Amino acid sequence: MGITKSSESVDFKGFLSYKLHTNFLSRFSLWHNYFMSEKSLGMKNKEKYLSEGKKIPKCVNKGCDNDVIVRDWKYFSFKHVCSNCKNAEQKGLSPRKGVTSYKKNFCENKDSRLGFQCPVSEDFNFPMNVLHGDHIDGDHENNKSDNLQTLCSICHHIKGHKSGDFNSATKGRDLS
Ligand SMILES: [Zn+2]
Ligand SMILES: [Zn+2]
Repeated sequence: MGITKSSESVDFKGFLSYKLHTNFLSRFSLWHNYFMSEKSLGMKNKEKYLSEGKKIPKCVNKGCDNDVIVRDWKYFSFKHVCSNCKNAEQKGLSPRKGVTSYKKNFCENKDSRLGFQCPVSEDFNFPMNVLHGDHIDGDHENNKSDNLQTLCSICHHIKGHKSGDFNSATKGRDLS
């Protein structure tokens, strides 16, 4: 009797540990597959991009030669400034010595260049984070200074909707 009981209890323990083990393995493998497939798409995109001889665009700020921040490779989404300049901007500081920010402190659509006039009054003192860098031709890899303009978030948003720029599936969308 005692022997049977003990073997039953061993079997039960074994069963429990088997259940826990397979449960863990299946969860792990789901997570692993998800993570690896996400990662490998980005990695594949990156390898493809660089193997085609393309270079990560340079920071738009004058005098800065750093590569821009890559937001994600899955959508080939690049920011237009480097991490160094971005950090300075977020802290409300000027870029480091020798570098000039391309960004104006007003919305350039006050001249109605987008076909409508910026609705914000001219003397409004814009906080820098509602002024966005916009690529005029919609090519987010074209960081030449004549392809950049500063738009307030309202004008940027309207332009984005008109051009389909804000579609998350669009290559290199730019929301900052
Ligand atoms: Zn920079
Ligand atoms: Zn505006």
